[in-house]
Amino acid sequence: MNRSKEKRINKLKKKRIWPSILGLIVILFIFVVVMTVALFASGMDIVQRKFTESSRKSLKVAELFEDYDSETGEKIEQTVLSHIDVLEEIDAISVIDADRNPVWSSSGEYPVIDETINIVFLTGITGEEINVILNEDTKQVFSVEAGEIIFNENILMKLFSVSNYDVTVPFEELKLWLVIPVNGFEVLVLNNVPIYHQDFLMMGICILLCILLISVFITYYLISIISMVFNVRKTKKIIYTDMVTGGDNWLLFTRKGASLLKKNGKGKQNYALVHLEMRKYRSFCTCFGVNKGQELIESFYAALRKEIQKNEVMSHQEDAKFGLLLVYTETEQLEARIQQLKNAMNAVLPGMKMYFGAGVYLVRHGEYDVEQLYNNAMIACEMLGEEAENKIAYFDVEMNKQKLWERKVEDDMDRALANREFQVYLQPKISTSEEVLGGAEALVRWIHPTEGFISPNRFIPIFEKNGFILKLDDYMLEEIAKVQAGWLAQGRKLVPISVNVSRAHFTREDLAEHICAIVDKYQVPHSAIELELTESAFFDDKKVLLNTVQKLRTAGFPVSMDDFGAGYSSLNSLKELQIDVLKIDADFFRGADVEERGLLIVSEVIDLAKKLNMKIVAEGIESREQVEFLIEQECDLIQGYFYSKPMPVEEFAQKYNM
Ligand code: C2E
Ligand code: CA
Ligand code: CA
Repeated sequence: MNRSKEKRINKLKKKRIWPSILGLIVILFIFVVVMTVALFASGMDIVQRKFTESSRKSLKVAELFEDYDSETGEKIEQTVLSHIDVLEEIDAISVIDADRNPVWSSSGEYPVIDETINIVFLTGITGEEINVILNEDTKQVFSVEAGEIIFNENILMKLFSVSNYDVTVPFEELKLWLVIPVNGFEVLVLNNVPIYHQDFLMMGICILLCILLISVFITYYLISIISMVFNVRKTKKIIYTDMVTGGDNWLLFTRKGASLLKKNGKGKQNYALVHLEMRKYRSFCTCFGVNKGQELIESFYAALRKEIQKNEVMSHQEDAKFGLLLVYTETEQLEARIQQLKNAMNAVLPGMKMYFGAGVYLVRHGEYDVEQLYNNAMIACEMLGEEAENKIAYFDVEMNKQKLWERKVEDDMDRALANREFQVYLQPKISTSEEVLGGAEALVRWIHPTEGFISPNRFIPIFEKNGFILKLDDYMLEEIAKVQAGWLAQGRKLVPISVNVSRAHFTREDLAEHICAIVDKYQVPHSAIELELTESAFFDDKKVLLNTVQKLRTAGFPVSMDDFGAGYSSLNSLKELQIDVLKIDADFFRGADVEERGLLIVSEVIDLAKKLNMKIVAEGIESREQVEFLIEQECDLIQGYFYSKPMPVEEFAQKYNM
């Protein structure tokens, strides 16, 4: 498939869902992070403010003792009591001496100080409440001498984690003792720091609003993701549906096929790619209409679908061609299965005889590229040729080579014609009566700049398939006309030179006029140019063939039938076609065991031809015995290696003194 189309399809299938899912995940993540940070920060802020405010009150007590010089506990008591305004702001005050013995207290509470840990817990006298005094750095009870007390997050975190962990302190009962060293005594100031749920009210409302907002977002995203999933399913269905059959299409076939082959990684099962096609589908459409043709394809698809197992795939390819990936055990079983598929297709139109070609590629372990491998199955089917009805062809490496060769030939042929790489060779036809030159056949040779000498058997069949043979035959005819014209100008005696006229020419009704026009350009007598047709031309438009032959003979061109006896209906064609020369196929003279029977037939054919007033040419004659036999039978001309191989025109002219 085209790369950019594939990309676009892939985008259609995936594009919309993933960004949405990703967006959802990102939003959730951001929400969780922001909420955690915000909760932590605002919670901390509330607690921090409470603690700072409470400690500020305690600091006022510290101010009372700024320039204090008395060394008795009573004096401290008096100083505190004389400042009622300060006392009113705090919850309790106690004094202890250097040995931590109680001296005086406004409430009777004395915190017990433990200096061994970073965070110091002071248990109230009652032993029930837990009161906290902090000193991070010095591991001492907190000193207020420094001035201000800042409850940073670090301290608070520890406070909470310890208090939450070790002892459960209800937030409402949180108390803060601050210690003020005064001349060998320690003044302990208590401040309750109750933290109530209401303090977090605003924060709670904010959280709720956030949750609400995020829920709206999530719902929106979820709905759009769900609708996208449905859309993607719909899109997939469209992408993977075949326009003609409404079933799986080619794209799905290649994808599913590749995944089946990958799943079968260890080679548990044997897989074969099968290309199945109805022959002459286009003719069917011409006869019955395109709609009937499409209906036929639909029915084929339905019939094949029924035959397909779970671990196999199939799809319609184009025209009446279907691709299948089948499981098989042995090739015999596979062939029986393919036959069964053909029968199923045939049963679609019971009254009509249809022909199917099948190309098979046996997938090897580790091969997954269905598109590439399928090509092999198609090549195999192509190699069957049009005539091979109802056959199965297996792909082999040679086929691939042949395909590559065909491609090369097709790439090079136009250039070759323009550059005159096609050269005319002549093979003499020797008359039996005097063993002198009686004619010649023009045979083409391709002198390729890189491949060198190429024999016609390697390119003529390709040109016959792609139609280039029309140009080549015209070129050969013109070259021979030129050669004959040249010899004529030199006053030499001409012998007829035959050129091959491929059956492909017989589609044009003005073929005779076309040939005349080429030859007449050089003013060569028509009798000097013989036209060789093969009997296979009979299978095409018989009317055009008969008309053309008649016109050509009337115009004075000798016409010969090439390879007589090689086909199936040689005698039949003789009945309808009036020609001048019969060329007996070389096969009659090949193989020791058939030789005797072959020679018998040859002698009868010569007899028949004489009666029909035709000249006889025997082709492919290689031995003296064959020559003697033909002389005895009064065969007119002999063409074969015994006398000479085909050779370039100049060589021919020299050898035969032209
Ligand atoms: P063809 O027309 O039957 O030509 C006779 C072939 O038999 C030639 O093969 C010739 O070289 C070969 N031949 C002749 N005597 C002997 C012999 O004693 N022993 C053996 N083994 N072979 C012999 P070539 O030249 O390779 O041509 C092969 C075929 O290619 C021709 O068969 C003809 O069908 C086609 N071809 C050649 N040139 C042209 C052309 O210009 N136009 C068309 N349409 N076909 C051509
Ligand atoms: Ca020939
Ligand atoms: Ca021949």
